[in-house]
Amino acid sequence: MMPLLRTLDLEAGYQGKPILKGVSMELFPGEVVVLIGPNGSGKSTLLKALSGYLPSRGAVELLGKPLGNYTPVERARILAVLPQENDLPPTFTVEEAVEMGRYPHLSPFSGPGPSDRQAVEEALSLMNLQGFRRRLLATLSGGEKQRTFLARALAQEPRLLLLDEPLSRLDVNYALELLTLLRNLAQRGMGILAVEHHLAYARLLATRAVALRDGKILAEGAPEEIFRPDLLADLYRVGEGHRRHLARLLEG
Ligand code: ADP
Ligand code: MG
Repeated sequence: MMPLLRTLDLEAGYQGKPILKGVSMELFPGEVVVLIGPNGSGKSTLLKALSGYLPSRGAVELLGKPLGNYTPVERARILAVLPQENDLPPTFTVEEAVEMGRYPHLSPFSGPGPSDRQAVEEALSLMNLQGFRRRLLATLSGGEKQRTFLARALAQEPRLLLLDEPLSRLDVNYALELLTLLRNLAQRGMGILAVEHHLAYARLLATRAVALRDGKILAEGAPEEIFRPDLLADLYRVGEGHRRHLARLLEG
C-alpha cells in the first residue's frame, strides 16, 4: 500500500533556527497517528511543514509525489489542516467558514454545485452546527469555533487530515464524539495525523503514536507501547515527585 504521507530526514525551522532535525515518518490510509511531546518540541512546526506552509529540507511526499510538485489547490484536494490558531476573519459566518472548505473542489467557471452544498451540510451536521450557521465567528465560544474549523476541514473531503490539538477546546462529550468520528473516518480509509496533549484522549484516538522531543522522534509505536508512565515521564521530563500522578492519569 502506498503511504499517504512520507517524510525523510525532514528539517525545518524559523529564521535559520533549526527546529525539526531529521524527521522520517510514514502515514498510511486507515491510521490515526497521534503526535505527542513537550511544549515547543516542534509538533506544530511539523504540521506546518507537512501542509506546505513552511520551507523545509529533506523529503515530504504526498501519495508518492513530492509535496512541492503540487499546486496549492491540488494539495488541498488531498490534505486538510486544522491549525492551532484559527485563520479566518471574525466577520465570517459559520456557514461561510465551512464553505471555504470547498474551494479546492470548485471549478473556476461555476459556483458551488449540489455536491458542494451536500458536503457543507454534512460537515455542519457532523459537528452539530446547523443551528449556528448564521452566527459570526466573533460570537462563538472556543469549542463552537473549534467545531466550525473542524467542519471546514471535513467539508474539504480530504484523504489526509492534519489536526493541531483538535480536542483541546471541547468539553468531554464533544471530545469523545469527535474522537469516535475521527476513528470512523480512518476506518473508512482516511489518514489522520493529530497533535494531542491530553494523554487519555491521545491514547483512545491513536492507532499509532509518535513522540517528538527537541525536533526529533524519540519513540513511536502502538499506543500500548508509547502510553507507558516510564516512557512518558522521560519524554516530558516529569519530576520524581509527579510520576505517580502521571501513572494515575494513564490508568483506566
Ligand atoms: P509545539 O510542539 O508546542 O507545537 P512548535 O512547533 O509550535 O512547538 O514550536 C517549536 C519551537 O519553534 C518553539 O521553540 C517555538 O518557540 C518556535 N517557533 C514556533 N513558531 C515560530 C515562529 N513563527 N517564529 C520563530 N520561532 C517559532
Ligand atoms: Mg503546537
